[in-house]
Amino acid sequence: MSNSLGHSHVEIAGLGLAGLSAACAFAKAGWSVRIHERAEEVRLSGAGIYVAENGARVLDALGASEEAFRGAYQIHHRDSRDSANRTLAIDDYPREKPFRAYFLRRETLVYSLLNVAKELGVEVRLGSHVLGATPDGALHLVGGETLAADVIVGADGINSQVRKSIGVETLRTELLQGAHRAVCRRPQDAHIVQPHTFIEWWAGARRFFYAPVSTDLAYLVMTAQLNDEAGSRNPFDKQDWCRTFPFTAEIIANIEETVPFMPFVEIRCKSWIAGRVALVGDAAHAMSPNLGQGGGTAMMDGISLAHNVVNSGLPVEAALCRWQERQRPIVDRAQCISGLYSKLASWPDTPRKMALWCASKSGWITRQRLATANFLPDGV
Ligand SMILES: Cc1cc2nc3c(=O)[nH]c(=O)nc-3n(C[C@H](O)[C@H](O)[C@H](O)COP(=O)(O)OP(=O)(O)OC[C@H]3O[C@@H](n4cnc5c(N)ncnc54)[C@H](O)[C@@H]3O)c2cc1C
Repeated sequence: MSNSLGHSHVEIAGLGLAGLSAACAFAKAGWSVRIHERAEEVRLSGAGIYVAENGARVLDALGASEEAFRGAYQIHHRDSRDSANRTLAIDDYPREKPFRAYFLRRETLVYSLLNVAKELGVEVRLGSHVLGATPDGALHLVGGETLAADVIVGADGINSQVRKSIGVETLRTELLQGAHRAVCRRPQDAHIVQPHTFIEWWAGARRFFYAPVSTDLAYLVMTAQLNDEAGSRNPFDKQDWCRTFPFTAEIIANIEETVPFMPFVEIRCKSWIAGRVALVGDAAHAMSPNLGQGGGTAMMDGISLAHNVVNSGLPVEAALCRWQERQRPIVDRAQCISGLYSKLASWPDTPRKMALWCASKSGWITRQRLATANFLPDGV
């Protein structure tokens, strides 16, 4: 199937990190690309996002890293602390080879990819609501339009319509936690955080996460159990969180707006593909955010999918099978490790402190934790 210029064509549902990475990668290979986003405008959550070496390599390959990382603040350490503000463990990020780890504003990351997509001639249809797809390569829109393509990409997030329409067996798990997120001005924080470090404070089942995004801004994630009425309350209850983490008062005072509390969801699909349709990102494998790899794996999916379709020399259906075989093991592993970390929240304080300390000392655990960040996906 080709468009009027004789190019192969891909239709993509969803303008998130997965859809944008796939769009840029297909467009770079000379395909014609159209993205459908149901929102009327580019949605930005006002929060931050962790991008490690794997995500940075995708951004390099797509030509987006210069814009994404301009002015960004590199991270070398994670400092896990207890409810009395005592350090329990320091996890170091590799220094011996180039290993990048940043917290960025989400909008910076999304626009870095969107700008590349636009330069490459990707058509972005806002307010275009996808109803579903069929394995023979048809995308159905609300309003009755049907579009044909060589490949259909379902990058439409946790509640993916594309996933539902192709009928892949899916296990959806509502996890027992969720989080408030915010980006705020950094207070004078030299007495709070060491340079190039982010902090995660633990108090019972609550966590308070503080990461510098730039010299001026910081990204915050406040995680609580769903049955923690005050902790999960919208709007974010500054006073209540201040009582749990009094030493974060200067940070909390700077919060102007939070992304409403959102429960974490895990999606596991028996297959990510059906005929000419591929699911990428959260549509295929939403995971708890503990490893900071939901977006990283979404970007890896996009570039590796395009690489396998364009360069494997296989018919589309076979190329999608190859892609899934090559990409899936690392993503399943990330989902599993991230899920295990969530369970620490329900442990009593003392065993959790010991677990965090042991994890920081164990080379094996560190390698597992960083396996996804060190992964080299197809196409980079
Ligand atoms: C609290 C929290 C913190 C996180 N922190 C990190 C982190 O630090 N690092 C990291 O890598 N990941 C993190 N993640 C995960 C990461 O945000 C997601 O995994 C990633 O954004 C998924 O991207 P996506 O493109 O697959 O989906 P989405 O970003 O959800 O994009 C899907 C898009 O599809 C659109 N859409 C949906 N349905 C339709 C339809 N029917 N028709 C047309 N369009 C549609 C939506 O409007 C949306 O724009 C975090 C997640 C949470 C909840």
